[in-house]
Amino acid sequence: MACFNNIIRYIVPELPQEQKEALAYASKVPMQYTNVLLRNWRPWKKLGVSESRLLMATISICTWTIRSRSEPINSTSRPTNHRGAHDAKSQFTRPAAQGAATVGRLDMLNTSFQAGELEVRRQLARTLGPGGFDPAGDILALTINRWPHGYAYTYDTLSDPSFAPEQRPHVIGRRAFGRIAIANADSGAAAYTNEAIDQAERAVHDCLFSNGYV
Ligand SMILES: Cc1cc2nc3c(=O)[nH]c(=O)nc-3n(C[C@H](O)[C@H](O)[C@H](O)COP(=O)(O)OP(=O)(O)OC[C@H]3O[C@@H](n4cnc5c(N)ncnc54)[C@H](O)[C@@H]3O)c2cc1C
Repeated sequence: MACFNNIIRYIVPELPQEQKEALAYASKVPMQYTNVLLRNWRPWKKLGVSESRLLMATISICTWTIRSRSEPINSTSRPTNHRGAHDAKSQFTRPAAQGAATVGRLDMLNTSFQAGELEVRRQLARTLGPGGFDPAGDILALTINRWPHGYAYTYDTLSDPSFAPEQRPHVIGRRAFGRIAIANADSGAAAYTNEAIDQAERAVHDCLFSNGYV
């Protein structure tokens, strides 16, 4: 099984209760990428600002970072792209960050793209307005991409209990069950592709060992 780990308990209801609870512990973290193509970056230059961190009011749990992309732009008159990326759980101050991912996802799904775009325009106007920025004329394009189920959950050192290594939910959750082995980046509790590859390899070994092929 290499799908999101927290749906496995619905597909394999015969799993032991402890394992089902472990698989239910975490859910994918919602993500949003925002790209804004600006006519030029004169207001940034005028204000002496290269990066700003803004609160998404419509998705109130999110912090949005605008960053001038790194290729050298010699003229302040050239169009430039500004990109904001956030994971929607990180701004929660709730007792358990894994619950925050779920609340963040609901918030995201309850926010229309239109409302998100409006908020981006407002924020840029508030930040860059004093530098002469006019959202009506200076925004050439705006995209918002959202992944309600984005990154695999990684433990939060402040809000997750300190589990013994073998008691960590993702370790209990990935135990082989009969002829079923469990992969996905979720089973490594780390978000990137290298983890998915490592867990796939581990799951193949689990399958071979638990069925006596090795
Ligand atoms: C927006 C975004 C940007 C990212 N950027 C990077 C990056 O720059 N670098 C990086 O290393 N990682 C990045 N990642 C993370 C990377 O995408 C994941 O680590 C990787 O895709 C996890 O692979 P996986 O095989 O565990 O799961 P997935 O790639 O999610 O694959 C799971 C598969 O299971 C399938 N599936 C689900 N349910 C069922 C079912 N019932 N039956 C059959 N099939 C099913 C799905 O369709 C899917 O194809 C990014 C992720 C997101 C969301």
